[in-house]
Amino acid sequence: MNPTRADALLKLEQFLPLAGISYAEGRNFVPGVVSGLSPYVRHRFITEPEIVGEVLKRHSLQETEKFIQEICWRTYWKGWLEMRPAVWSNYLRDLDVLRASMASDYDLTARVAAAEQGLTGIDCLDAWACELRSTGWLHNHVRMWFASIWIHTLGLPWQLGADFFMRHLLDGDPASNTLSWRWVCGLQTQGKVYLATAGNIERFTNGLYSPHGLLAQEAPLIKESFTIHPLLPLSRPDQHVVGENTVLLVTEEDLLPEDWGIPQSDVSAIVLLHAAESYPGIGALPAAWKNKAIEETAARLEAGFQCPVHRLHLSEESPLANLHTLLQESGADSFSIMNPPVGPIRSLIEPMLSDLASNQVALRKLRRPWDEAFWPHATHGFFKLKERIPSVLTQLSLVA
Ligand SMILES: Cc1cc2nc3c(=O)[nH]c(=O)nc-3n(C[C@H](O)[C@H](O)[C@H](O)COP(=O)(O)OP(=O)(O)OC[C@H]3O[C@@H](n4cnc5c(N)ncnc54)[C@H](O)[C@@H]3O)c2cc1C
Repeated sequence: MNPTRADALLKLEQFLPLAGISYAEGRNFVPGVVSGLSPYVRHRFITEPEIVGEVLKRHSLQETEKFIQEICWRTYWKGWLEMRPAVWSNYLRDLDVLRASMASDYDLTARVAAAEQGLTGIDCLDAWACELRSTGWLHNHVRMWFASIWIHTLGLPWQLGADFFMRHLLDGDPASNTLSWRWVCGLQTQGKVYLATAGNIERFTNGLYSPHGLLAQEAPLIKESFTIHPLLPLSRPDQHVVGENTVLLVTEEDLLPEDWGIPQSDVSAIVLLHAAESYPGIGALPAAWKNKAIEETAARLEAGFQCPVHRLHLSEESPLANLHTLLQESGADSFSIMNPPVGPIRSLIEPMLSDLASNQVALRKLRRPWDEAFWPHATHGFFKLKERIPSVLTQLSLVA
């Protein structure tokens, strides 16, 4: 699996014939029928409307309804978190507290280490922990079972499980990951806890695992109680003004600036903003994947755009001064960025963007039409957004 646009397109092409009924019937089985596209969509080597557009060339909306709904789960989680950023900061705060307590809580430290190393004695969990660390990916159903056993059987804090995933997944995503772990706990939907059962695991692994007696049959009390988080309004995105010369700021959150709706003739330079450790303690596999993703993207953009392409490490001394110099040298009027969603990349670059704005540098914070159309429907449960899928796809001209 290579972090390139070419690989993403190839993977989609191979999956297209399966995106209809085969996916609907096979997606819950492991390995089952799934696309494996998540590391690519996560970093937007390929976009949601591209995928949906291609799928709808081969299948009717009805046939591929399930697949499109799954694509929209990512959108839903991102929109939901965008309006409740405190859920992400609370998660980070809780992690700090837990890590500090682990310094003296040897029992918790040992139990977490056993779960991460695949040494719990629960054969399926142990195999999945090793699979995650060695491949950087797990099937969705496996992620659900894993989280359930971690929380409800082993009684470990969900935040430490979510952190284990974030450190090892190639598709590690603040919204999909944090909110899915919270969903398994029962913190996302009031009164709904996800409990893995031996029968379900046995059925959907085709008998590979049957962890008898090891799984909780009813959810133990989670100390944290269900809270309704205040809903913050979505920010208003900026639009590119055709004819304005601009420098594109590209982050690992969206590696497809060719598709930002900015004509090439308006692009004076491109800067790839690179964070050495985009998630604290990120594992060697996803770190290498992200580095390569930035390098591959730089090479693609150098070949495709008629302008200089720079890499700027955010750990460099005074990256802001470098940006100012770059703007002057390129003769551009503004910077344009696909505004990163809630998560570590936004936290890293937000201070720099604020400094630019306060120094009277024109900064265009863009949002993709897909997110702009769907996110306002992520205020409540997924159902509300799901109902709007056909009309939003029409609005985006993806269906007639
Ligand atoms: C506990 C837990 C943690 C998770 N952590 C992450 C994470 O960090 N990053 C991440 O990208 N996904 C996460 N997911 C969602 C999901 O498991 C993966 O996106 C999925 O396994 C990707 O495999 P695929 O591309 O073959 O999916 P397919 O089934 O082929 O689906 C196509 C696309 O739809 C989207 N999608 C499918 N299912 C989901 C879902 N449940 N939630 C959100 N989007 C979905 C993905 O973009 C995926 O690539 C998590 C799920 C759980 C239960």
